[in-house]
Amino acid sequence: MTDQHDPTLRPDTLTVAAGRPAREEQAPVNPPVVLSSTYFSTGSPDGGDLVYARLGTETWLPLEEALGTLEGSTLPALVFGSGMGAISAALDLVPAGGEVIIPRHSYHASLVAARHLAERSQVRVTEVDIADTDRVTAAVRESAARGHEPVLWVESPTNPMLEVADLPALAEATHAAGGLVIADNTFATPLGQRPLTLGADVVVHSVTKYLAGHSDVILGAALTDDEGLHERLRTRRSIGGAVAGPWEAWLALRGMRTLALRVQRSQQNAAALAEHLRTHPLVAAVSYPGLPDHPQHERAAAQMSGFGSILTLRPVGGVEGAEALTRALRLWLPATSLGGVESSLERRRRFAAEAPTVPEDLLRLSVGIEDVADLIADLDRALAVAAQYAG
Ligand SMILES: *Cc1c(COP(=O)(O)O)cnc(C)c1O
Repeated sequence: MTDQHDPTLRPDTLTVAAGRPAREEQAPVNPPVVLSSTYFSTGSPDGGDLVYARLGTETWLPLEEALGTLEGSTLPALVFGSGMGAISAALDLVPAGGEVIIPRHSYHASLVAARHLAERSQVRVTEVDIADTDRVTAAVRESAARGHEPVLWVESPTNPMLEVADLPALAEATHAAGGLVIADNTFATPLGQRPLTLGADVVVHSVTKYLAGHSDVILGAALTDDEGLHERLRTRRSIGGAVAGPWEAWLALRGMRTLALRVQRSQQNAAALAEHLRTHPLVAAVSYPGLPDHPQHERAAAQMSGFGSILTLRPVGGVEGAEALTRALRLWLPATSLGGVESSLERRRRFAAEAPTVPEDLLRLSVGIEDVADLIADLDRALAVAAQYAG
């Protein structure tokens, strides 16, 4: 479609250049949005033809090409109607009677989807601490010994506990056991980490978050270098029907054009906030992979470029303090989701389905691109309100 496939282009450049229409006289610089559910077609359509928009539509293609290039894949991404659409399709790669090993602090809907699979089709689900490489490796070997080709689900950093997995080591162990690695790369973004180049077989994204970046789109994507897996995921998309609308695909690509700037700024803000909160008298605990005292700081530094824009904190006032803090904010948005230009936070345990190992008073902060001085001032004021509950 375009001549921006030059592999020597750097990732930040690719976010701007990939997925453009051909460089021809009179061509638009942005791809068009095509609103048509069906296509003029006769005879027997071969794989690549546009026939019906649930099977494929040209409005998806520029985003799929850009995301594929950005993740370092030889094949385009497959966009889905949501992150969970992509995750459900990826979980369908687990064979009936198979086993999936999954972080206990995965995105909670991914865990629920895996558990549903277990209830329906006797898939075995083993929940692990993904940062504990020895334990995960042992779980993979035990699974192979039971006769499975294990599927290892990796989220790194995890949501919301920010545990960092040793992706290359876990991929090597899983492949040695004849298994498959699927990585949710939503938190890191392709600019922070490229799981396919670290050994993962499939990557999934909630495009809703950083890639689209403006809290106005629900969208997902799955990626793989493997033709066979690509075809199976495409089939799951066509049959499952979790397909993207044309406007969402277009908006996501538009949002992705500024990904590098947004990630750079929000990471800078997150690092400054983590540093400020680390010694704050009204903060009981703060976690950020970029802090030297994060348990997997070295691993994150080796595997990622940048430490992301999510951090967690526990105020001194406990659950009541965390709730009061949330209500006292004037700039930070109390809201779920993450990865938008605006800073937001939430107490994760307000969801009954959140893992019980997540502390009750833990606040997950998604740091945006505002002036960090304003973010700090707002948070400091709210921390003082939370502190009234300490004691
Ligand atoms: C939000 C999220 C998802 C789910 O994506 P949707 O677009 O909401 O369906 C999956 N994984 C992670 C890590 C997420 O943050």
